[in-house]
Amino acid sequence: VSPVSDPEVGDASRVLHRVFGYDSFREGQQEIIDHVVAGGDALVLMPTGGGKSLCYQIPALVREGVGVVVSPLIALMQDQVDALTALGVRAGFLNSTQDPDERRQVESAFLEGELDLLYLAPERLRTDSTLRLLDRGTISLFAIDEAHCVAQWGHDFRPDYLALSALHERWPAVPRIALTATATEATHAEIASRLNLEKAHHFVSSFDRPNIQYRIAPKNEPRRQLLKLLRSEHSGDAGIVYCLSRGSVEKTAAFLVENGIPALPYHAGLDARTRAANQARFLREDGLVMVATIAFGMGIDKPDVRFVAHLDLPKSVEGYYQETGRAGRDGLPSVAWLAYGLQDVVQQRKMIDTSEGDDAHRRRLQTHLDAMLALCETVECRRVRLLAYFGQHATACGNCDTCLTPPQAWDGTVVAQKLLSTVFRLQRERRQKFGAGQIIDILLGRETAKVTQFGHDSLTVFGIGTELGEAEWRGVVRQLLAQGLLAVEGDYGTLLLTDASAEVLGRRRQVMLRREPERAARARSESGS
Ligand code: ADP
Repeated sequence: VSPVSDPEVGDASRVLHRVFGYDSFREGQQEIIDHVVAGGDALVLMPTGGGKSLCYQIPALVREGVGVVVSPLIALMQDQVDALTALGVRAGFLNSTQDPDERRQVESAFLEGELDLLYLAPERLRTDSTLRLLDRGTISLFAIDEAHCVAQWGHDFRPDYLALSALHERWPAVPRIALTATATEATHAEIASRLNLEKAHHFVSSFDRPNIQYRIAPKNEPRRQLLKLLRSEHSGDAGIVYCLSRGSVEKTAAFLVENGIPALPYHAGLDARTRAANQARFLREDGLVMVATIAFGMGIDKPDVRFVAHLDLPKSVEGYYQETGRAGRDGLPSVAWLAYGLQDVVQQRKMIDTSEGDDAHRRRLQTHLDAMLALCETVECRRVRLLAYFGQHATACGNCDTCLTPPQAWDGTVVAQKLLSTVFRLQRERRQKFGAGQIIDILLGRETAKVTQFGHDSLTVFGIGTELGEAEWRGVVRQLLAQGLLAVEGDYGTLLLTDASAEVLGRRRQVMLRREPERAARARSESGS
């Protein structure tokens, strides 16, 4: 019998000291652990780094039987089991990477009562043989990690998770604890209903990460901007750089290496061995930069990640929160930096249009994108907006970019009308569709080959927008897209009017725009204030 699973010595605080070597619980842990030890169901919303694992590991050790942990992170199971084994905890896992022999060994250990924790990939629970196996052992609890994966409304839905609703029916007496580091109120409610956890106790921690400085910058030359950031603020620091595509991961990693910054690529197109090796180096060595797609990071526990940079716009605020949350788990000051431009909106819109799934699914993706755009374009404190998205209240942080260099809000109704009427002339009067480049050339009165070819120099709107420069017009397009006053479609990012555009054109709606900080500073000094 393992000393740690002996109920006589198994009280939670003692396990915390003896097994894990920690002095005290972190905020929230003790209440959750006591509740589950006593046999209650729990739904835990706790940010990354908050210490979720102990919330099911300790009850699994204190209660009689084996704690069954459902996790989608197959690649990390070996590491998790190794780490527990090193602490003297008897742990094993069952997933598709094992050969039949290894699987049989774990199964018999489970049946003999020689395990404290058993990690399972969710698809295992779809097989009858696994269910029958579980029937024959004693289960102390079910832990459902990354529980947001059960929510279709969320950003990381995994169909295999739907099978988890059956746990309660099959083993009604076994307590369940579901955990996630990201959930809006809608996702939270969906997790509760899909997993039958409405009557469970819900433990919701604050999602505030005060040591993370949030910054969202206009994107010009993203790799150069990144390099500048790393050289000026993060030399020698470990960090993660997220890119949308595998190609851009490869190029960015190579670019950093050429410029003397130790960087490694990580994406699903690399073979499993390279991925595992790069991940292991990132965890072990100091000062490495991991350039990755979002395939990287869930479950990665590296305390001293000093920055998370996004070179492309995340698809949702939940994704952004979870990815940036990998910075500064040690509580020291860290930076979340995102570069964002018009092209991101065009690209994401295109991905939504061509995504698989029904209209409801596409609408969901669009809602996620809209919330992300609103966060990018806000003139308020980023942290306030971020927490509000998760239904939590905060006061201005004084640390994010909008707090430090407040952008000005300005009345952009007239420029919006100019831009929208240009789109109107082309779309409604000439049945033509063009992207931002052509529209801006018309507004600026540029006689390019393409302008003269289509006779756009004879439009009444030709040259009516010279009060702004090209970059500023691109900012206006971006913000009108973010506000739903303009839409974009197709491979070439064609701009189209929306129902709301008519309100602006009909002078029934005022349009407030955000002036980028450097332009705001210039405007302030020009106006003498
Ligand atoms: P999460 O799953 O919420 O992201 P983890 O469970 O991985 O967080 O915990 C994050 C880190 O905090 C780990 O290194 C863990 O060992 C450490 N930790 C958790 N609880 C405590 C505690 N009570 N005291 C000290 N360290 C803790």
